[in-house]
Amino acid sequence: MFLSHRVTSSGETEVCVRFVGFGAEEDEWVNVKKAVRGRSIPFEHSECCKVMVGGLVLCLQERRDQSIYYDAHVLEIERKTHDIRGCRCLFFIRYDHDSSEETVRLRRLCRVLG
Ligand SMILES: [Zn+2]
Repeated sequence: MFLSHRVTSSGETEVCVRFVGFGAEEDEWVNVKKAVRGRSIPFEHSECCKVMVGGLVLCLQERRDQSIYYDAHVLEIERKTHDIRGCRCLFFIRYDHDSSEETVRLRRLCRVLG
């Protein structure tokens, strides 16, 4: 459960997480710098072919109270014919931080630079 965030004296952002079933004394501050990279660029529809199976991407994990980009690996890609709205492909990804898996569209993905 995401509770709040703070910025440390060194300018790094941390989020406070509480695990279901534990009390406040179990709260844990997690440094998100490792999970969220500063430089990332959303994929253009025409760049969908650059997303590779096994490749590292950033994926927007949408939660009720917070959406955060996390490192994720592409497990499978279901290529679809692009239409007037652009990419319709489906990307089956697994987040590195919690090993959860999700099928997402290209707009939820970002390219990792550097
Ligand atoms: Zn596509």
